[in-house]
Amino acid sequence: MALVRSRDTQCELALRTILHRRGLRYFVHRKPSGHSRGRADLLFPSERVAVFVDGCFWHCCPAHASWPKANAAWWQAKLERNRTRDREVDEELSRAGWSVIRIWEHEKPEPAAALVERLVRSKRAPSC
Ligand SMILES: [Zn+2]
Repeated sequence: MALVRSRDTQCELALRTILHRRGLRYFVHRKPSGHSRGRADLLFPSERVAVFVDGCFWHCCPAHASWPKANAAWWQAKLERNRTRDREVDEELSRAGWSVIRIWEHEKPEPAAALVERLVRSKRAPSC
């Protein structure tokens, strides 16, 4: 099986470049304050927006999820655990007033960046 890097994937780097060019500033690989789990890939603390770029393999993307044949049971348990943890992190953050965006690493960075930008800007100005 190919080595899947969980940090600084191409999608994530492209996303960071686009958002930075559009004047947005953020923290990288930072936990939202007061949370023990769920290091966000991009964090906008004042707007309370947390962005996760999820690897297709580790987070079981519906388009590219693959189940390794060797040690199948072990992998299945591990990947299910990842998926459960993702949901728990989402719930914990939204209870604390954060908006969570999850982006698959296979997604095109431009529309993903537009989505993030829209949400971050909407959290800055009252929408009326
Ligand atoms: Zn995928």
